[in-house]
Amino acid sequence: MQMEKNYCEECGAELSNGLDCWNTFGAVIAWEAHDPELVAEHFLTVASYNLQHPSQFADGVIAQLQTSFVGYLSGTLTLDQIRSRTRKAFNGSRRVLRPIEERRPVLRRWPMTIADVYLGDQPKGAAERVRAWAASIRQELAKVPSLEQANAAKSTRRKVKR
Ligand SMILES: [Zn+2]
Repeated sequence: MQMEKNYCEECGAELSNGLDCWNTFGAVIAWEAHDPELVAEHFLTVASYNLQHPSQFADGVIAQLQTSFVGYLSGTLTLDQIRSRTRKAFNGSRRVLRPIEERRPVLRRWPMTIADVYLGDQPKGAAERVRAWAASIRQELAKVPSLEQANAAKSTRRKVKR
């Protein structure tokens, strides 16, 4: 049987299991039920997926997530601190998700994607693959700041000039 390949329009993942990126992510999350080492990396799995699929989020959410993600990886923020910061930033009326019709995915290529974590029927080693995925994202983020950060920097400069 010929496997049909498709590519994610946002993270560029090459998907060959008949699943889209979201469902591939769901399959990795499902592995957590049988893999304590993978559960322990839940934050990294979710954050990595979201950082590679930013169009679903309202303005400001990705910048906040990026700060939490880098803080967690560098050991300056614990999960508890991240949770309370996130609650403070987004509680109540602030919208986290962007309505589907307003989402505009922009393709950005990454060295690793969810497709490198989900290897079909091979849950073994998934936690290690998540850590490698997260580390590669951290490196990419250090190279090119997110569009949001770039825009924020621009508007700050504009404000300073006035
Ligand atoms: Zn994707």
